[in-house]
Amino acid sequence: MSETESCLFCRIVAGQIPATVVAESVNSLAFRDIEPGAPTHVLVVPRRHVPDLAGLAAASAAELADAVALAAQVADDEGLPGYRVVANTGEAAGQSVFHAHLHVLGGRSLTWPPG
Ligand code: C5P
Repeated sequence: MSETESCLFCRIVAGQIPATVVAESVNSLAFRDIEPGAPTHVLVVPRRHVPDLAGLAAASAAELADAVALAAQVADDEGLPGYRVVANTGEAAGQSVFHAHLHVLGGRSLTWPPG
């Protein structure tokens, strides 16, 4: 099985696994997290398979910018007065899916520092 065939987010991008898509662009897809940690909890993923955000930056600065822009569009669409973008990188930081993604969180008061 190839890397993309076994990747959960590649399969969501391909439409093989259902997800609640809220926005999309040529290079990125935004869908609701199945275990939301806030009233708005959306994942923005590049269509390209790269394991993490630094990998996306190395592969294509334009696609990284596209993902950030889509995150901002989601926050705007949800009417959020403020929002947090998180990219867990590495197991020690809580990354569980090794396809780059931005968590877009908002809709409640967000404390700092995060746990
Ligand atoms: O940062 P991390 O890699 O842990 O984020 C992965 C996220 O993907 C989790 O918040 C998890 O709830 C979400 N997820 C999802 N749909 C799936 C599997 C995981 O939204 N089918």
